[in-house]
Amino acid sequence: MIVAIDGPAGAGKSTVARALAAKLGFSYLDTGAMYRALAWLAGERGVDPEDGPALAALGRANPIDFDAEGRTQIAATDVTEAIRRPEVDRVVSPVARQPEVRLLMRERQRELAALGDSVIEGRDIGSVVVPNAEVKVYLVADEAVRAGRRMVERPGIEAEALTADLRRRDESDAPQMQRAPDAVLVDTTRLTVEQVVELVEALVAEKRIPSGRLHL
Ligand code: C5P
Repeated sequence: MIVAIDGPAGAGKSTVARALAAKLGFSYLDTGAMYRALAWLAGERGVDPEDGPALAALGRANPIDFDAEGRTQIAATDVTEAIRRPEVDRVVSPVARQPEVRLLMRERQRELAALGDSVIEGRDIGSVVVPNAEVKVYLVADEAVRAGRRMVERPGIEAEALTADLRRRDESDAPQMQRAPDAVLVDTTRLTVEQVVELVEALVAEKRIPSGRLHL
């Protein structure tokens, strides 16, 4: 079974997807980390973040991997912490917008999805990458709450800078942010992580035991 969790930055995708995967015993795939790893490597190698063919060639030569602990690896380097830095926040969106990059990532994400039960988080998982995912959720939250969550993840960075980054990325990611028509929209603004996880768990349970068969 594939559970697709899409939505903008700060909507709660990573926290919810990780907790849900642990509870269900599913693997967890963070597709944002894949775009971030390529953006990081492009910075290291001096590749223009708007040069789609060069980025795709770089990505093909340096496949992204996740180890057993879920740490992100590219070009024989553990980039788990490096990809969360503001420099990467700034360039990841232009990198992710390149059609050649999206094609490459889509192929790799489908390969990883085919390995078995997983919770996959991103922007276009339910709509493009795995449109036949059994459970699709689209998380949203008010901007102030999203910025507040980012502040907890990025201590030391000012609130205004974080809000500006969220706005810039929302705008820049808009073409890729495709909500699948059959995704369940969940506003996490006033919900706890546990509440969102329970809600998605209920959707998973419903798929596992179709309600029509409960009254045997
Ligand atoms: O989720 P996260 O903020 O780590 O994603 C980083 C960036 O990767 C997003 O701002 C977006 O530009 C890109 N992305 C994407 N498609 C996905 C996942 C992430 O374009 N499925």
